[in-house]
Amino acid sequence: MRHIAIVGSGPAGYYTAEAALKQWGEDVRVDIFDTLPVPFGLIRSGVAPDHQSIKGVSRRYEATALTDNVRFVGNVMIGRDLTISELQALYDAVILATGAPNDRKLGIEGENLPNVFGSASFVGWYNGHPDFADLDPALSHDTAVIIGNGNVALDVARILAKSQAEFAGSDIVSHALTALDASKIRRIVILGRRGPHQIAMTPKELGELGHLERACPRVEAADLPDESEDATLEPGQRKSVGHLRSFAGTDQGECKPDQVRVEFDFFASPKAIIGTERAEEIEVERTRLDGDKAIGTGETYRIPAGLVVACIGYQTSKIPDVPFDERNGRFANEEGRISPGLYCVGWARRGPTGTIGTNRPDGFAIIEKVAEDIGEGTGKAGRPGFDALAAQRGINYMKFTDWQKIDEAEVANARDGSPREKFVAVEKMIAAASKP
Ligand SMILES: Cc1cc2nc3c(=O)[nH]c(=O)nc-3n(C[C@H](O)[C@H](O)[C@H](O)COP(=O)(O)OP(=O)(O)OC[C@H]3O[C@@H](n4cnc5c(N)ncnc54)[C@H](O)[C@@H]3O)c2cc1C
Repeated sequence: MRHIAIVGSGPAGYYTAEAALKQWGEDVRVDIFDTLPVPFGLIRSGVAPDHQSIKGVSRRYEATALTDNVRFVGNVMIGRDLTISELQALYDAVILATGAPNDRKLGIEGENLPNVFGSASFVGWYNGHPDFADLDPALSHDTAVIIGNGNVALDVARILAKSQAEFAGSDIVSHALTALDASKIRRIVILGRRGPHQIAMTPKELGELGHLERACPRVEAADLPDESEDATLEPGQRKSVGHLRSFAGTDQGECKPDQVRVEFDFFASPKAIIGTERAEEIEVERTRLDGDKAIGTGETYRIPAGLVVACIGYQTSKIPDVPFDERNGRFANEEGRISPGLYCVGWARRGPTGTIGTNRPDGFAIIEKVAEDIGEGTGKAGRPGFDALAAQRGINYMKFTDWQKIDEAEVANARDGSPREKFVAVEKMIAAASKP
């Protein structure tokens, strides 16, 4: 028998569990730990609430989750409730699938001013992550500035630009819906250090911005390279750049007063955020490309910015006694191996890149390595050992059936037309799970 602990119940965690079942069938027991009482990581708290078809992927993990050989052990944070060495003493292999939940820092003056957020907190706020439910961003200023040229920046821009009616069918939490309804934001500036050919935005998400009820996306025609140069791009990127070209087209006219103007400001590097009580302006330096790198030109300008959201990437949270790669912001590893018996997978292994599906081959690859290393198992106590320790420590963990009760209660609490109203406080989740 092999006893495997997976830390983190996001896509990487569940795909790894699926791979373990494929590899060993009846001869494995997998416990999937998560800090939260609810599973699925960023599928619940990252993926945009108005992209329900993508969130629906979590249903596919249920086949794995409901197998007797796999357990969800929620509301247990590794590194706080249990140390890594305690876990390693109980399981043949410990696989960290903890993602990358911390925002990378901008490293500029003013980034700690009120109403300057990283995307982890801002997205967590509208998606109801308990750590960010009380963020309470002020949406009372005319202009918001979003820093970054990836899909997360697009998610944030779309959420800020949408009308209330366009949230129908989404599971955006009510506190965010109410705040967005009262929002005064009418101009959203998306800053990118490099140009249109260097964006990391996918065509579907960019195209969507062009079809919103009141968003008016705009690109400066002068920022676009000559159209003939698009031929060098791979097809997806060419399509994305095609959307940017349509946002710059001469037939676009002016945005109407009741629209929300979404401006793409390319070749623009943030230098400082300025304000007294809270963010008021952002100072930006014009850049130019040197090869693929953005170089400052020395020319600066300011944009009003009552809200700043930096969508510039994430880092893994450190866990005591686990070697960390500071440069790349993830666990130090060799193709997923950290040290004997300790592994990492998903964003905790490779950093915040790729789609949900990218984590599947990652999960299968790590189980191959674990299989090479642990053979028939090393005779550790596994599940019963953890249960004994949990009882001794008074750790009251959540099972998958508890999550199913929380799920049911969230669905029952949904606003009209919404799939669920999420609990945003851990205590409320636990209370829902305790109901008979
Ligand atoms: C804003 C945003 C939107 C996205 N939208 C899309 C999209 O539309 N389509 C797409 O394909 N991909 C999208 N992605 C990417 C996708 O979410 C990731 O590829 C995927 O979630 C990474 O999976 P993971 O399992 O490595 O990490 P995560 O999903 O972050 O899961 C990590 C889990 O580990 C838990 N955890 C962390 N530390 C501990 C600890 N010490 N002890 C116990 N548990 C712990 C966390 O609570 C969490 O549940 C998006 C990402 C973001 C940030």
